[in-house]
Amino acid sequence: MAVILIIEDEVELVKVLRSYLEQAGFSVIAAYRGDTGLAAWENRQPDLVILDLNLPGMDGLDVARQIRRKSNTPIIMLTARVEETDQLIGLELGADDYITKPFSPRVVVARARALLRRAESAAAPARLLRVADLEIDLDGHTVRRNGEPLELTPTEFNLLAALAAQPGRAFTRLQLLEASQGTAYEGYERTIDAHIKNLRAKLESDPRNPQYIETVFGVGYRFARQ
Ligand code: CA
Repeated sequence: MAVILIIEDEVELVKVLRSYLEQAGFSVIAAYRGDTGLAAWENRQPDLVILDLNLPGMDGLDVARQIRRKSNTPIIMLTARVEETDQLIGLELGADDYITKPFSPRVVVARARALLRRAESAAAPARLLRVADLEIDLDGHTVRRNGEPLELTPTEFNLLAALAAQPGRAFTRLQLLEASQGTAYEGYERTIDAHIKNLRAKLESDPRNPQYIETVFGVGYRFARQ
């Protein structure tokens, strides 16, 4: 069941939208401020966001920008006037659709369905990585070697996924730090060595003579071409 997050400060409007969306088979969560809405997005990772433009706490434009920095979650922006819509389109901030108030809740349901269908077909391919005897499920965050599941931490998983996606490519420690943790600060590159060591211990039959993750001296690491 797809989860839709409504971020809108008009309580009555949220009520109406919620009832239409739930009748259409969606699961609905709601926030009434921009900042709490963004927090709800982080915590719940909804499949789609319906976002009002004018909100207390943080305005809708900033919420959309923050979401876009991290993900492609489809966003439907609700705006109060046609002029605001024009302005928004000019800003190209990454909302996928705009609906001007007042609107029929049926229109919102139809647009939400269309966006979710589009997002689903875009996300479908290439989510399973098969390299050597490893099967890396990028959605499920699981790894199997010869069918046997390996227990990896999220950092180890992200490291392996980044490396295995491009066998033969040498990554610097800073690039791997960014790929595995989303941030990279110079001076922390060496923490990668510890994660690689742990990853090798779980992955390699002989960690001192690795066959998957090779050290590239003076650079960093690469996944061996198989
Ligand atoms: Ca509002």
